[in-house]
Order: sequence, then C-alpha cells, then structure tokens
Amino acid sequence: METAPGADRYVLDLTALNRLIEAVREAGYRVAGPKVRDGALCYEELDPDETLPQGVRDEQGAGRYRLRTGGDAALFSQAVGPHSWKRFLSPPEQRLFTAKKDDRGFRFEPGAIDDGKWAFIGVRPCDLAAIRLWDKVFQDGAWADSAYRAIRERVLVVAVQCTAPAGTCFCLSMGTGPRAGHGFDLALTEIGNGAPRFLVEAGTPTGEEILALVPKVRAGPEEIAEGERRLGQAETSMGRSLDVDGLAELLSRQVDSPRWEEIAVRCLACGNCTMACPTCFCTTVEDTSDLTGSTAERWRRWDSCFTLGFSYIHGGSVRRTISARYRQWMTHKLATWHAQFGETGCVGCGRCITWCPAGIDITEEARLFRQAAEAVPAPRS
Ligand code: SF4
Ligand code: SF4
Repeated sequence: METAPGADRYVLDLTALNRLIEAVREAGYRVAGPKVRDGALCYEELDPDETLPQGVRDEQGAGRYRLRTGGDAALFSQAVGPHSWKRFLSPPEQRLFTAKKDDRGFRFEPGAIDDGKWAFIGVRPCDLAAIRLWDKVFQDGAWADSAYRAIRERVLVVAVQCTAPAGTCFCLSMGTGPRAGHGFDLALTEIGNGAPRFLVEAGTPTGEEILALVPKVRAGPEEIAEGERRLGQAETSMGRSLDVDGLAELLSRQVDSPRWEEIAVRCLACGNCTMACPTCFCTTVEDTSDLTGSTAERWRRWDSCFTLGFSYIHGGSVRRTISARYRQWMTHKLATWHAQFGETGCVGCGRCITWCPAGIDITEEARLFRQAAEAVPAPRS
C-alpha cells in the first residue's frame, strides 16, 4: 500500500534531537558523533554533557581543508572530515591474542572484543555505502571477521542526508549520495532556517522504537518540500564528478601507461589516502614479545598498500615503485574491486583528495586516463 507523502516523516527541533540522543543512551548505546578537534571534524565518542557542534562549515579542495566556526546555528552544514566510521568498526590497532608461557607451555588468551553497543550519529550517505561494502566483506563474506561482526551487529545508525557537499565530494557520480538510500535506523535532513530543525524518518523497527520516545510533529508538505529542495540543491553543487561509464575496463587497459610514472613524481607514498578512505581495509599483523620471552602478543594494525613492506613476500616487495603502488590503489578502487566484489570500491567521499598532501585528485587522474585512452582506440577483441 502506498504511503501518503510525509506519513512516515516527522520534524524535530534541537531539543527533540538532543532528546533522541538521550533516548539512544538510555537504550544502552555509547554515542559517537562529530566533534571539532585539531581544526577538523572528527568522529569520536561523545560524553553525555557534550552537544553536537553548531555553525561549522568546511572548505575542502585538493590537499586543502579548513573549518569555519561561529556561523549560523546549523548542525550539519559541512561534509565528511578525515575520520570515517571504520575506526569504530575495525580499530586502527587490535590485539588478536596474548600467549603466556607457564610450566606446561604457552597459554593463549584471545584479545578482548568490544561487546558494547555503539550509536553512530551523523553518518553521511557515502559512509553508509562504505559500511555496506565492509559488511559485504567482513560480515557476510567468505572471510567474515568475528571482531567486526561482534561490533557491527550492535551498531545503531543515525544518518544525515547531505545538504552541503564539499568541494571534493562526488557521491552523486558514484550513486551513493547525497540521499541516504538504506542502511540506517534513522535518517535526518536539516531543514532549519535560523533555529535548527530536522526531518526524521525511521528505516528499521529499532529506529521506530527510538523515535517513539521523542517529542515530534508530523512533517507537512512544506517541510518535506524544503528537504527535497535542499537535497536537490546538494545534487547540483557537488564539488567533483567522475565519469564511471566503462571506467573499470578503461583502467584495466592502462597497466603500462606512462601516466602512472607522472603521478608517482607527485605522490609521496605517505598512505594518507588509504588511512582516510572509508573503504580501505588492509591490515598487517605484528607479533611482539617481552624481554623474558614469557609473554607474546599478536596485533592487527591498519596498513597501506602505499608502503614498501605491504607487498613484501619472500625475497622482496612486489610493488617496489611508487607508480606501481598508486596503480594498485587506484585500479583496485575503480576497476578490480568490481571483479572482486561486484561493484566499485569508491563511494565518492572525496577524502583521498582533501587529505593528500600533494593534492592528487582521483577524479582528475581518472579523467586524464580516459582522455588518453580515447585518443588511442581500444584494441579489437
Ligand atoms: S577512493 Fe577516495 S573518494 Fe573514493 S571512497 Fe576512498 S577516500 Fe573516498
Ligand atoms: S596519493 Fe597522496 S595521500 Fe596517497 S600516498 Fe600519494 S601523496 Fe600520500
């Protein structure tokens, strides 16, 4: 049965939104959300007395990020910062086990798994898509990860549809935003002029239960139209775009292109792009032991395909040059991810562009590869 427009959407003011967060806490969740730290919008655990930042706007470009604070009272007039939710779902460092020696040999203790419930407040549509990619690999895939599953199963997602894309955003090209399709328990759209107001809708029964605890009014046609207007405006104000038509095949034919060397001249192999990317999930494993040799630990740490050691196998590293490493990263995101997981590995969040100290722009590099490929006809099959 068709639902009347707005029948399942409500309007919250700031007091009601704060009550919603309080209700989430009362339901036993630890709350993580946006917080301004070191001049950037980060995702961190929020204490009960902390409120969401207001009047924060961002300026983002290739290798450039600035926050402007003290503007209007809006809460979500900015795009994503350097953090993504992977830092909660798969922390940068995790102890996998400890081995302790006693009279009978080594005794193994598994590392502690976070068994708390997390509520993520302010998940942007590109990051919802990134979480879906991680779920595909670590929750539902053939190599599912028990630690990831344990955390993920208990996450409550409060999404925010984007009304102020940054200069490096291109989610529209990737089909991941600025609207939140699915994968959320609750979704907010900021519609206030002056005082903060939000449209809210529930995406799951858990979201409905939380929403039932919050004072709200049913959204009218004007409020729904305002939400649509702002999302439409966001679609037309994306800072970047990426032509994905045939891109995976096109890049796969560019393995020997001299352009990889041109990029390598600028790339510092710092790995910032992979750390900031919400879909990059590569890790390494390190073993440590104490000086007496009686206790050893195995740790899993985030790693980057930009390090020389990442591709080390017996006898040396497979990808010795920066050009080989950038090629690996870019073609994995935009080409071979399709073969591996049936879709692209890029959600168009723009973080790798903003946080690259050399200002290397994946959309611009893809455009140049396309330009070069179109100048040379594809070989007949
Ligand atoms: S490759 Fe860049 S734009 Fe794409 S998801 Fe990763 S950080 Fe975002
Ligand atoms: S592309 Fe930019 S962020 Fe990535 S490794 Fe190279 S210099 Fe660092």
